[in-house]
Amino acid sequence: MAEAAERRERGTRQEVLDTFYHQRGPCCAGCDWWHSISSLVGECHQSAMVGGAERWAAIGIENVSMPLRAGHVITERAHVCGQFKDEFDWSSLPLPYRKQIGDRTLAAKSAPPLNRSETDGGRHGPEA
Ligand code: SF4
Repeated sequence: MAEAAERRERGTRQEVLDTFYHQRGPCCAGCDWWHSISSLVGECHQSAMVGGAERWAAIGIENVSMPLRAGHVITERAHVCGQFKDEFDWSSLPLPYRKQIGDRTLAAKSAPPLNRSETDGGRHGPEA
């Protein structure tokens, strides 16, 4: 029961992030390096793990009562850097889903590409 609810939550989160990415363009939410933790933040796996304080600094978390453990840098979904990568094949997803999230790769060929390198697609998260 709890497992089914968790799967549903992950599916909803991915849909929120996919929609956000297609509306916004290049950002962590659509980057192949990103693993979502929630619909707002996730871990960037583009670089090696860092210390606890550095890991959370990008989203403004500093002094908290719990220990800040080392890991991959946490970023907000709207963040983007020069290492952005999106090589996911959006055409592999069901057409109704692509329409629902506003997949820009479905639009006319004249539509601006999502990726700076003009490769299509991207879908990210622990289950991707
Ligand atoms: S856009 Fe940059 S910071 Fe964000 S997940 Fe991709 S590589 Fe990491």
